[in-house]
Amino acid sequence: MNYQKIIDETYVDILSSGNPGKVATYIPELGGVNPDQFGVHLITVNNENYSAGDSETPFSIQSIAKVFSLAMAYKHLGAKLWDRVDVEPSGNPFNSLVQLEHDEGIPRNPMINAGAIVICDILTTLLDEPKRDFLEFVRQLSGNNSINYDRNVAESEDATGFRNAALANFIRSFGNIKNDIDVVLDFYFHLCSLSMTCRELAETFVFLANNGRTLFGDRRVLTPSETKRINAIMLTCGFYDEAGEFTYRVGLPGKSGVGGGIAAVQPLSYSIAIWSPSLNAHGNSVRGFEFLERFTTRTGESIF
Ligand code: GLU
Repeated sequence: MNYQKIIDETYVDILSSGNPGKVATYIPELGGVNPDQFGVHLITVNNENYSAGDSETPFSIQSIAKVFSLAMAYKHLGAKLWDRVDVEPSGNPFNSLVQLEHDEGIPRNPMINAGAIVICDILTTLLDEPKRDFLEFVRQLSGNNSINYDRNVAESEDATGFRNAALANFIRSFGNIKNDIDVVLDFYFHLCSLSMTCRELAETFVFLANNGRTLFGDRRVLTPSETKRINAIMLTCGFYDEAGEFTYRVGLPGKSGVGGGIAAVQPLSYSIAIWSPSLNAHGNSVRGFEFLERFTTRTGESIF
């Protein structure tokens, strides 16, 4: 498969079809990002690399980090994790409060804010220094010690995160948050602020295409069965209330973030990261979505 040729052709196609959508503005620090940036990086499980455009420019990965916090909590707790957070698609926006009342404080899945906040609470209990230990985990996944939080983004989220504070307090009222709310939220805002290039994101994600093993240092992070489950959760819950549409059009497990990133995997084959900051009404990157649809159509490869 000539991935570079298909990436190049698809990239040019997408560039010529305009750039509709809007950057996320509810986090002030994200509102100032140039919407015309557009990068792609694909890494195979044999460590072959292909890229196009702004693939070496760092961006805020936002909710894509929820996959890493889930992997870390799952590695520590195993199936006991599912007592605290469910694995059902929510069909609601990422920051919705409404289902929590009905579901008595058990978030629908770990990919929405409510679920990720509960995962942050679990990690706060399990880890000595959650922010430091989580960053170390992500650095091990990527084999890259330079990956870091973006403090300006974390502060910007903290200053405006009233809805996340509401979610945390609401969940706490049902007893599903055990630690101090401010500590849990501070950890959550840092996790969302992780900054990576497309190359770094694809490298960090590739263990999910490789049966749970990183390519760097050949470390086992998850068993093949655990890896399958994380990929299944991404497939059903990874794109806010547009997960069905993404699966229908692209056919790969993946996760998006409001910074305009999307990371996806073709199990046993590759991981791919795309970044283009203009978002559709559901909070997903317009060009990222379109790129992946055309890419999987051209390669003829998807999990189906
Ligand atoms: N930090 C963002 C928030 O909590 C994450 C949103 C996202 O990327 O889905 O609002």
